[in-house]
Amino acid sequence: MNQVDYLRISLIDRCNFRCQYCLPQGAELDYILRQELLTHEEIITLLKTVFIPLGFTKFRLTGGEPLLRPGVVDLVQDIAALPATEDLSMTTNGFLLSSMAQDLYNAGLKRINISLDSLKPETFETIIGYNKRGIWQQTWNGIQTAYQVGFDPLKLNVVVIPGVNENEIEDLAALSIERNWHIRFIEFMPIGNAELFSDNAWVPSEEIRQKIRDKWGLMESNIKGNGPADVFKIPGSKGTLGFISQMSECFCDRCNRMRLSADGWLRPCLLNETGQIDLKTLLRQGTDTTEIKEKVAHLLHIKPEINYKQRDSGTETGIYQRTMSQIGG
Ligand code: SAM
Ligand code: SF4
Repeated sequence: MNQVDYLRISLIDRCNFRCQYCLPQGAELDYILRQELLTHEEIITLLKTVFIPLGFTKFRLTGGEPLLRPGVVDLVQDIAALPATEDLSMTTNGFLLSSMAQDLYNAGLKRINISLDSLKPETFETIIGYNKRGIWQQTWNGIQTAYQVGFDPLKLNVVVIPGVNENEIEDLAALSIERNWHIRFIEFMPIGNAELFSDNAWVPSEEIRQKIRDKWGLMESNIKGNGPADVFKIPGSKGTLGFISQMSECFCDRCNRMRLSADGWLRPCLLNETGQIDLKTLLRQGTDTTEIKEKVAHLLHIKPEINYKQRDSGTETGIYQRTMSQIGG
């Protein structure tokens, strides 16, 4: 059985973008009230008394947009300072990064994934649901700043959407040739955006690989990350290309993670809506942390069964109740 040692921690469900694959278009979301967010102290307590004693050593901060969380730099500092933390990373849309990258790095964040679905400002604006002038440039500046500050590896996440950014696959892949950047192509999943999703709404990773292979050739890379990406590279390039194929392949047997939502729900499997534990309520009711740890240990124990047998439980309609921004993608 895979060691589950990786926790993705959502810091906030709010976001300054409205990406069409992430949020239902037009609909207002019920945001988590500030008092319902796990506090800084609650997150640290859960790490120290529950997750680290159970063997978790790798943490990723996400959202929503994690850089919108007040006090995010302090939180990075405190998590990085925990002796058990082997790996601390963040997934961000990069919009606020140019002013925050240095502070985050100094606080102990060394790895970062930035979402960048297009190199064309207009297409970018269509995807992220905002047509504010300069928004692509500001995001690109954020990526450049992170690179200069020294984030290594620096990964760019691309969700490929047919008819929207599919024709940029080669241009985005080319970013890995001259720089040690890792471009990760993610198959679009039907989470939180049922109206956009149809059988041909996603591009299989193999199709993406073939386009790149046709242009430059493609070889398997010996660099492997913590996650489910299959890693390749263009021969002679400095960076790599990752493919996250949750639609066309099942990688549940490699799953090493759990997700903690900004309001404290611990989710054993991205696709399962029913097997979660409400850690925030337990903490605020004064439940002893030993007891909370036992509950999480039990969830870890039954996680393989949840992964395989109850994967889509709670989603019989094919529609997930929470969006990626709410789950903490
Ligand atoms: N706001 C940050 C960002 O966009 O990087 C972090 C949160 S976002 C939910 C994390 C990742 O989930 C992003 O790389 C995004 O592209 C991906 N994502 C969101 N919705 C998705 C979907 N329906 N299918 C596949 N990936 C998705
Ligand atoms: Fe926001 Fe990230 Fe979702 Fe885009 S993918 S709407 S940036 S949370």
